[in-house]
Amino acid sequence: MFDYAITPQILANKTILITGAGAGIGRQAALTYAELGATVILLGKTVAKLEAVYDEVLAKGYPEPAIVPLDLKGATKQNYIDLAATIENQFGQLDGALLNASILGELTPFNQIHLQTWQDVMQVNVNAQFLLAQALLPVLLKAKSSSLVFTSSGVGNKGKAYWGAYSVSKFATEGMMQVIADEYDNSVLRTNAINPGGTNTNMRSVAYPAENKATIASPEDIMPLYVYLMADDSKAINGQRLNAQ
Ligand code: NDP
Repeated sequence: MFDYAITPQILANKTILITGAGAGIGRQAALTYAELGATVILLGKTVAKLEAVYDEVLAKGYPEPAIVPLDLKGATKQNYIDLAATIENQFGQLDGALLNASILGELTPFNQIHLQTWQDVMQVNVNAQFLLAQALLPVLLKAKSSSLVFTSSGVGNKGKAYWGAYSVSKFATEGMMQVIADEYDNSVLRTNAINPGGTNTNMRSVAYPAENKATIASPEDIMPLYVYLMADDSKAINGQRLNAQ
């Protein structure tokens, strides 16, 4: 695992947005950030899942979160602008954004990828990230020190047979991260990407149905890097792709 010793309350007084916060890695990141003192903004598609995380955060006595139900597939540019305006009104600034939500599409030979699958994967994994990042930049720049974190994959810098649209979308994600990091170098904002590595979630089960789940990391196991990139300890890190495992 990425080597970082997490100290209690390291994220106190920070406001952090997490996409895909209702399940898998995003859910765990939201719970961990809240445990460490952050006010978390839970963005996701399925309201019931977001509400369950909200309830869990409150039950544990962590700072009260906010919920943003948004389907990244259908969301418009205006939806993201409205979201950024709400964050600014409510919190004044944004200290961190974990762009975690994505879809796998289907694993299939390249010559059989359906156009619709290709378009859906690009919409959620690339276009939505672009619109969200663009809308959030002004609120992130209002913080004293802020962190924008994209989520890549093992197939995000090395193409792999049958991973088609998903792999290409993760290359685009890393490209977007590098462009933003370079443009905002020497600003309060740092921009990086995480490669989580194989982690026991619904997406992983779909990609590797026969895998023995006991042999792979849990979302909790990979949190050190997720915390490090949101903590001020990573202030000097910009434009990097980092492995959580
Ligand atoms: P999951 O499929 O378990 O969770 C994905 C989350 O994204 C869910 O909360 C889901 O919400 C949300 N989401 C999906 N589509 C949309 C949408 N259209 N609008 C809003 N939210 C949406 O995935 P993981 O937790 O495994 O993956 C998290 C990230 O890590 C992804 O970017 C993935 O590519 C990456 N990754 C994961 C690896 C792994 O082994 N698990 C390995 C490498 C990379 P809902 O449940 O409501 O649909």
